[in-house]
Amino acid sequence: MADQPILDDRPKEECGVVGLYTPGEEAARVAFFALFALQHRGQESAGIAVSDGSDVRMHKDMGLVSQVFHEENLEALPGEMAVGHTRYSTTGASVLRNAQPIFCQSLVGEIAVAHNGNLINARELRAEMESEGEPFDGTSDSEVIARLLVRHMHAGPEHAVAHVMRKIRGAYSVAVLTPRMVLAFRDPNGIRPLVAGRVGEGWMVASESCAFGPVGGQIEHELQPGELAIIDRKGMRFAQGAPPNGRNMCLFEFIYFARPDSRMYGTVLYTARERMGEHLAREHPIAADAVVPVPDSGIPAALGYSRESGIPFVEGMTKSRYIHRTFIQPDQRMREMGVRMKLTPIVEHIQGKRIVLVDDSIVRATTTTQIVKLLFEAGATEVHVRITAPPIKFPCFYGIDMCSRGELAAAVMSVEQIRAKVGATSLGYLSIEGATAAVGSPEHEFCLACFNGHYPIPVPDDLSKQAFEVPPDVGQMETLSTGQLKLIGT
Ligand code: SF4
Repeated sequence: MADQPILDDRPKEECGVVGLYTPGEEAARVAFFALFALQHRGQESAGIAVSDGSDVRMHKDMGLVSQVFHEENLEALPGEMAVGHTRYSTTGASVLRNAQPIFCQSLVGEIAVAHNGNLINARELRAEMESEGEPFDGTSDSEVIARLLVRHMHAGPEHAVAHVMRKIRGAYSVAVLTPRMVLAFRDPNGIRPLVAGRVGEGWMVASESCAFGPVGGQIEHELQPGELAIIDRKGMRFAQGAPPNGRNMCLFEFIYFARPDSRMYGTVLYTARERMGEHLAREHPIAADAVVPVPDSGIPAALGYSRESGIPFVEGMTKSRYIHRTFIQPDQRMREMGVRMKLTPIVEHIQGKRIVLVDDSIVRATTTTQIVKLLFEAGATEVHVRITAPPIKFPCFYGIDMCSRGELAAAVMSVEQIRAKVGATSLGYLSIEGATAAVGSPEHEFCLACFNGHYPIPVPDDLSKQAFEVPPDVGQMETLSTGQLKLIGT
């Protein structure tokens, strides 16, 4: 079974990718530190593939970047070009054969592929290829991309990418390593992020700008929908791999997934999240004594709420720094201890106070229920929950692990019913208008599908049917919440 975060029902990040060419430097080391900065995007497996100009080598394994890589295996990865990946499985089981990069033989030599996102036509493409005799090693949709690239390499890497971009549908930010080139491309709707810039004398692409700081690099360009970056010994250049089909970056990247120091759509996310808190205070004001964040992700929005409302910001809980992901499964007693494993209230900051509790999202509502209980037990007289993500009513098909529609609290309950379920004094969600205004871009420049059901890339019936099924007993939500997450599309 995959390692799971203990008692956290937030949507799970997808994956992080990097691709780079660092003349005069071992690319594997640079990739290691860049991946380290992207660790939040996936903690199940990590991998780096390198090229020395003729051979492509790779190391990947299950676990965190720091667990997978050490001095010896980095030394065994010589070369100035690399791609790297951190994985959280959205399609395909969490097993080593699905870890990335994916390695394939092609006409131009070995290639390695790292993918963030989720293809919605992977199943039909795979069936078509298998019927033509194509062997598959794993079950991930990323292998479909890799094997399609191999099929079209005879036309050269750039043409192969352009061809594949026209065949695959869904959300993807991909980095590909060939013996002499790094190619990186983003889907025609630009759902998952991808940025490019300089590092030393070379160039790098990465899922988020936060990967550039630790390696002394600087972001220069946010890839546009359908855009392709080509990095080789001549430099970095850009081409339109496929025609753009709008501009629909995932709003959840801004609310929660991406690191707060990353910059997207020209905005630092910490600032966008502070502004979300300000909007939340205007949309859902309340008389209270303290604004308390759910650490750490609720901090910027709580600061914004505090600033706008004039209610003091107070740290009301400490978060264990050491419970992130573990291969040791929590036993039943630890599960029952619930959120206490992770969060401890600071009683002196809570007791006798009317609290505004700021968090980023409610999925099944189980985590929020436990936190509200914790605050009341610590002596809060009122707990007013304020959430920066609008109500999540629809499943995600573009690479975010949520759950089926019937398990989403806001899909089956009214706001008042959710308030009663979590035991809060009041509950307020930020509106879609408020969240997008906080980022500073118009609504049509985001994917908002899990909030409003408008999918920018149409979802095939067989995929949506499964995810839209409402379980016969919605009470099953409780059992599912105790660390057992459902993977979509698997
Ligand atoms: S459906 Fe929601 S989580 Fe998925 S890409 Fe769109 S905004 Fe992001």
